[in-house]
Amino acid sequence: RNSFRSLIVGVDAKVPLDNGTYTTGINFDNAATTPSFTTVEKEIHDFLPWYSSIHRGKGYKSVISTDTYEAARDVVSRHVGAGPSDVIIHTKNTTEAINILACTMSQKKDGKDIVISTWMEHAANDLPWRDGFKVEYVEIDQFGRLDLDDYEAKLKKHQGKIRLVTVTGAANVTGYLNDTGTLAALAHKYGTLIHVDGAQLVPHVPVDMRPEDSVEHIDFLSFSAHKFYAPFGSGVLIGPKTEFETGVPFCKGGSAIQLVTHDRIWWEEPPVKCEAGTPNLIGIVAMTAALKTLNRIGMQNAFQHEKKLLDYAYGKMCNIPDIHLYSHPDKQQSIGVIPFTVEGVHHSLVSAILAHEAGIAVRNGFFCAHPYCERLLGYSAAQIEEIAENKKPFPGLVRASFGIYNTFPEIDKFINFMHIVVNNKKYFNNKYSSSRSLYNIK
Ligand code: PMP
Repeated sequence: RNSFRSLIVGVDAKVPLDNGTYTTGINFDNAATTPSFTTVEKEIHDFLPWYSSIHRGKGYKSVISTDTYEAARDVVSRHVGAGPSDVIIHTKNTTEAINILACTMSQKKDGKDIVISTWMEHAANDLPWRDGFKVEYVEIDQFGRLDLDDYEAKLKKHQGKIRLVTVTGAANVTGYLNDTGTLAALAHKYGTLIHVDGAQLVPHVPVDMRPEDSVEHIDFLSFSAHKFYAPFGSGVLIGPKTEFETGVPFCKGGSAIQLVTHDRIWWEEPPVKCEAGTPNLIGIVAMTAALKTLNRIGMQNAFQHEKKLLDYAYGKMCNIPDIHLYSHPDKQQSIGVIPFTVEGVHHSLVSAILAHEAGIAVRNGFFCAHPYCERLLGYSAAQIEEIAENKKPFPGLVRASFGIYNTFPEIDKFINFMHIVVNNKKYFNNKYSSSRSLYNIK
């Protein structure tokens, strides 16, 4: 039995099946959101009587709340090796963090209007950059891996005009880990900064933003706590304080201000300048508790366990006929994510069948990384337009993604059930034919 399992809330919860019985649910949708650690549940419970206004009140509970809010920055900072000149900005998630960064960067007036991004980004690390910048997307190879030659060529071509490089640490569709050290060293060689979208990185591998005296340092990092065993509503953006000192903040309102007249606003110093409005302190308590537990487990141990699950599952998936895998067979540099399709069964139906017949949760679709999935599936621009106009069914992949609490027997159950699906395609397609619209299958 996996010893990490006892650390998770509701890990053995029973879920209903189509045949009227119940089974212990299997969650292979950890790339979307993870369940909570029991330590997180306890910390939230213990803190609930104590929350009060932050940064303002002098009451006992207010002081405790302010201290807790500020202390969380140190826990985050230590977990990812941020430096003394970095600020830890509390956000609600990665999406908000990247919007804050893009808004900040777009106000710098030095003519650097190019952002280097990649084909493998989540919408959160793509769309915010489209406002105010010309985005150059680094190519990927046929397996969806980043093309380092194209990356350097783009850095060289646009040298002096690049505002920043923004790249995911790990791809949410394929699980590939990008070599952030090499990407950072190259960005710095060509005189620009690098932001790493850590939404899929920080939950699974050790991260050190500022290894001593290294050109491989990460300038900006963003991530969300709900992907590492805390519930929704908290995340961070980390980066040099000086970068946030100029310009107006993305979100404007109380807390972010020193003084206001009808004509003028004197903003607070970063990070507070970037944290307008009453913050989600309970979410921050949860994030802090989750990080402390991950530290006790050790990120290397977490990564090794997930890697073993990945190798085991991937090896077995390769042997199932009619399953197409959408990543390189050499999964050395990957978190525990497997994207696949089943020949002759719609991706939405595969997900529904897994849930209804076996109690296994996976996700399907384009995972908010549309250009990446369009490329992986080989769709042309004209075909995508037809899909957008509802002339064709929405394409997609199925994604199984693992967390530290998943086990080899769970993978065996999943693999056995996938054999049942591919051997009974006609049966399942018929059984679910009347509920196709329910699963958005046109
Ligand atoms: N980037 C990546 C790589 C992700 O996987 C996700 C979440 N799917 C995000 C950004 C956005 O995270 P959030 O929804 O928590 O803002």
